[in-house]
Amino acid sequence: MPNKLISPEVEKFAQELESILQTGRHLLVIGEGDCESIVMCSCGVDIGVYRPDVAADLIVNDWQRHSMGLPWAQSR
Ligand SMILES: [Zn+2]
Repeated sequence: MPNKLISPEVEKFAQELESILQTGRHLLVIGEGDCESIVMCSCGVDIGVYRPDVAADLIVNDWQRHSMGLPWAQSR
């Protein structure tokens, strides 16, 4: 794993997030894929894989449905 993949600022932010994660609340995580966005929740659920032209509010809407225990689109 390359040393510079995570910036010091993000490392500090991740440490601050630890206390929030321990509460078990849902946090949206979006990662860069080859030609898509990989979307997960901090609770471990895969929200889905999204094309780059999908609007961010659709992704957030899917994640909100997951956090409310409702079904969501899974891919767009
Ligand atoms: Zn979740």
